Amino acid sequence: MDITTVTSYRTARTRDDLLLAPGEAVIAGGTWLMSEPQPGTTGFVDLTTLGWADIEVSPAGLRIGATCTIARLLAWAEGRGDATPPAEWTALSIVPDAANALLASFKIWNTATVGGNICRSFAAGAMVSLAAALDGVAEIWMPDGDSRWQSVAEFVTGNGTNTLAPGEVLRAVHLPAAALRSRARLRKIALAELGRSGAVVTGRVDEDGAAVFVLTAATLTPTVMRFTELPTNTEVADAVTTASGYYTDPLGSADWRRGVSAVLAEQIRAELEAAA
Ligand SMILES: Cc1cc2nc3c(=O)[nH]c(=O)nc-3n(C[C@H](O)[C@H](O)[C@H](O)COP(=O)(O)OP(=O)(O)OC[C@H]3O[C@@H](n4cnc5c(N)ncnc54)[C@H](O)[C@@H]3O)c2cc1C
Repeated sequence: MDITTVTSYRTARTRDDLLLAPGEAVIAGGTWLMSEPQPGTTGFVDLTTLGWADIEVSPAGLRIGATCTIARLLAWAEGRGDATPPAEWTALSIVPDAANALLASFKIWNTATVGGNICRSFAAGAMVSLAAALDGVAEIWMPDGDSRWQSVAEFVTGNGTNTLAPGEVLRAVHLPAAALRSRARLRKIALAELGRSGAVVTGRVDEDGAAVFVLTAATLTPTVMRFTELPTNTEVADAVTTASGYYTDPLGSADWRRGVSAVLAEQIRAELEAAA
């Protein structure tokens, strides 16, 4: 795709470089920005030259740099990176499922970033599913030099919209250690075998027995359902079928999304129960 309106390209080295001139937009992997015309954009500011660490492990949990590619996150989670993930972070088992929910060619997969996927904020955003499943928190740099933090589930406000104000940049996504120590599952379904997700359901059980189920792709924004313990089949079915935000588009009707979400949630619930 020729982006004919763009006449400047800056590589960011410091936070000051992220102060955008009128018409400038930040670019990460560029897989979406380069895939369709950007009529309002006259310049790109490259985030990938800021040198942000991809993966930072601490007792508090995992900090994923916004410019970490989905491919590098997956390699690390599968133990193919420079460092091995903590063995007790069992919920990393859903990273491959989440990464595979981003249906794209290998070129997209190796270039698309975690931050770019979350900031594009599609309902079917694979990294939104992952972060929302594990109580992910977005670390956002504000143009005045301050930072703010917001749960990824609340950061996404619609299919393609979020709370980023002009000039704000997603710096990282934090996944808390408690959620990473949970037993977690992810299931997805698409109308076409190789189509974009119509519904993604995650479920997890924490060490204290509390359970969290999250719908993405099926509802316009992530739907987080919390339970003090693993719900019964009736409880999970009630929560999923009465959730709001199911929508109709070429990837599926609202009624289909509600129905398949209930089926996937029950499969996850039964699997988590059997593995207890
Ligand atoms: C063939 C194809 C298939 C795709 N499949 C999917 C799919 O299944 N699911 C899906 O969700 N998307 C899909 N996409 C869209 C897109 O490629 C992905 O969402 C991708 O993860 C975006 O990451 P990126 O790093 O390339 O973002 P970019 O294209 O660089 O940026 C995307 C948007 O986010 C902004 N942005 C990027 N990083 C930041 C940051 N750190 N802070 C603030 N703003 C930022 C950019 O300004 C831009 O508006 C697909 C695209 C293509 C071309």
